[in-house]
Amino acid sequence: MCRSVIPADVREPTPRPGSPAARSRRRFLKLSAIAAWRALAGASGAAPCSGPPSAEASGREGRRETSGRSLTLFLCGDVMTGRGIDQALPHPSAPEIHERYLRSAADYVKLAETANGAFARPLGFSTIWGAAHEEWGRVAPDLRIVNLETSVTTSHDWLPKGINYRMHPANVPCLTAAGIDCCALANNHVLDWGPAGLLETLDTLREAKLASAGAGRNAAQARRPAVLDVPGKGRVIVFAFGTASSGIPTDWAATADGPGVDLLPDLSEATLRSVARRVRDVKREGDIVVASIHWGANWGYDVPPRQRSFAHGLVDVAGVDVVHGHSSHHAKGIEVRAGRPILYGCGDFISDYEGIRGRDEYRDDLVVMYFPTLAVGTGRLVRFRLTPLRLRRFRLVRPSRQDFAWLRDTLARECGKLGTSVEPVGEGALELRWT
Ligand SMILES: [Zn+2]
Repeated sequence: MCRSVIPADVREPTPRPGSPAARSRRRFLKLSAIAAWRALAGASGAAPCSGPPSAEASGREGRRETSGRSLTLFLCGDVMTGRGIDQALPHPSAPEIHERYLRSAADYVKLAETANGAFARPLGFSTIWGAAHEEWGRVAPDLRIVNLETSVTTSHDWLPKGINYRMHPANVPCLTAAGIDCCALANNHVLDWGPAGLLETLDTLREAKLASAGAGRNAAQARRPAVLDVPGKGRVIVFAFGTASSGIPTDWAATADGPGVDLLPDLSEATLRSVARRVRDVKREGDIVVASIHWGANWGYDVPPRQRSFAHGLVDVAGVDVVHGHSSHHAKGIEVRAGRPILYGCGDFISDYEGIRGRDEYRDDLVVMYFPTLAVGTGRLVRFRLTPLRLRRFRLVRPSRQDFAWLRDTLARECGKLGTSVEPVGEGALELRWT
């Protein structure tokens, strides 16, 4: 995730130089930069803001539901606690950043305050999660799994990639305060501060007793899934995969003896078979397997056919029970295939973007808490609650009635393309419907 000021968005595949897409992108960046600088300068007139699968192939035959019990996951998209958020937490990193338009991470705090009003700092570690706490209390998920889109480090070895997200290790209590169990790390920011930054990230998370998947000191470690025990309910196994389409440089792939991420070479049949073998090696009867995958562009609702067929293969062939897709800055549609949910893009969850304009039509300030409930024993989806929230003043709040309706309608439209629908269920939440 990564919108910078202005929005030199390195997560988007770079268009060919001179192509219409490249020209359009340059125009967008230029306009965004002007808007951001006006915001910082307080200039007037630029108010910133702000088919059924083969059960045999997937090894599911013979699995029995266990007495109607269920297990609920909390999933979300990008948790970007670096840069501006880090500056607002109790132990900010050195503020210097190496972006085209801004030189201090603290400027992102100013942008947010200009958009939505000043707020007292430092923010408490729990504060940024705001209304999410109440919802976690209500739903009581068994596990909380996020895409952690930042390096957690004091490293100064920034890579010249336009945007570098960093959270100070002393701010890691902001993750434990949210009860996060597992961080997917195969994304395009975990190595922003070099291999040293990744190694410190891994050490910091381990010391905080936070499981992680998708990155490691070498390829074997990066490819190792997180195995999470839910007492009385079984194991949840989390694989985290990255793809180049999300902006991950290909040389970030972990090697036999070098640190990096679990980068899929492509979304081909051969790659699917490789993933299926890896799942088969670890999955036991009754296990629930989550494939957390960072893929695709930051903006747009379309689901590329290659992504969709790969997701189907993960369910049909690899025996994956939940496809947890992310990289888009906004929520995308959800499909249910053979009782397995496929989330193509979970959107942002925590970010410092509220002062940045330019893609307002996507409303990336509106975020979603995803609560799939799965049957213990079979892993089949039995219920799926979606709770919309809004990011404002660096914390999650309940959306207005209009904002809730906007997100409901947007999800209904996009889910409808994939054969599902959403319905309000009270308490400011939605439920997914599928056949
Ligand atoms: Zn990303």
